[in-house]
Amino acid sequence: MIINKIIHYGKQTINQDDMDAVSNTLISELITTGPVTKEFEDSVAKYCDVKYCLAVSNGTVALHLASMYLLQKDDKVLTTPNSFLATSNAILYVGARPVFVDIQEDGNINLDLCEEYLKKDSSIKAIYAVAFSGNMVNQEKLKYLRETYKIKILEDNAHAIGAVYDGIKAGSCINSDCSIFSFHPVKHMTTGEGGAITTNNKELYEKLLMLRNHGMTKRDGLAPWEYEMTDLGINGRITDFQCALGLSQLKRLPEFINRRIEIAKKYDEAFKNTAVKPLYEFHGKSSYHLYVVQVDFTKLNITKEDLYNILKDKYSIVLQIHYMPINKQPYYKSLGYGDENIPNMDKYYEACFSLPIYPLLSNEEQEYVIKSLFEILND
Ligand SMILES: *Cc1c(COP(=O)(O)O)cnc(C)c1O
Repeated sequence: MIINKIIHYGKQTINQDDMDAVSNTLISELITTGPVTKEFEDSVAKYCDVKYCLAVSNGTVALHLASMYLLQKDDKVLTTPNSFLATSNAILYVGARPVFVDIQEDGNINLDLCEEYLKKDSSIKAIYAVAFSGNMVNQEKLKYLRETYKIKILEDNAHAIGAVYDGIKAGSCINSDCSIFSFHPVKHMTTGEGGAITTNNKELYEKLLMLRNHGMTKRDGLAPWEYEMTDLGINGRITDFQCALGLSQLKRLPEFINRRIEIAKKYDEAFKNTAVKPLYEFHGKSSYHLYVVQVDFTKLNITKEDLYNILKDKYSIVLQIHYMPINKQPYYKSLGYGDENIPNMDKYYEACFSLPIYPLLSNEEQEYVIKSLFEILND
């Protein structure tokens, strides 16, 4: 089969309804954070079974704002090296200190190891857990750690909108203080750039509402033009036309997730009893932002880099690697990180890559990806 376009690991799905929603909002009087933003927030909250939702300019800002509320300077925060930079960067933004904990088999932070750390060190104040690839972290353990050690919990659900763990929806914050989403185009649904924080904590919600808008408030007793800045906030606002896109995409989200699950199932079938090992066996709980496989290159004639290059140059398939260990980034090294004892993460990084998965990936294209991969690996 000839595929005459480049196949990436993820991309957005935009239709006419999405475009109409955006243009209809663009001609309204108010185009930045206004009534459509509120409607989008209410819809996301309803979708997640959570009390409050605050839409913001991107997932990174969601993490930053949440950290401004949750953390104090010098707090230690347990987090995963297997995430996008933004998760631990947010901890640094507020002067707190990430502590990188090793991952377990499914790519998520190892919560048993977290407990070891918590037992030894009372300056650990929080866990930032990422639902890697769309697979939520063990909720019973999260609940246990939260209650036993009285720590703050943030769930980075940038990969996981639509995921469900034993009836607990991603973003419902049953076992966490708050959760964040990203609406970047590679994620399940998009607003161009965008993100959200969900929470059941009214105080957290109201504080972030203010911090999203420079830390400004208007209170009774002030003249009509007066405002007061009581906290150092940021501009974390999102526009109404982005939220119009979000509302339209949210309606289509169940269909997007079903298609992703279908693709994941098909990959699982194709890789049974082969050298390509899915990160975890198929299960319906994951909302499959990523489809990650591991290959033991030490047993093959080619390296991961060879595979990457051949797929790209000869087959026009661009793999992604999720993720390079954050603790080994030069900036983190300059802060003294990099030599953590995290053998599972290091081993995982040698072997992992993410295959194309997005609603518009056709059956034909997926078959082409599978066939190409085996052509190279069996060579
Ligand atoms: C995408 C992503 C973010 C950041 O979201 P942006 O909207 O790109 O700022 C944070 N954490 C994880 C795990 C992500 O995948």
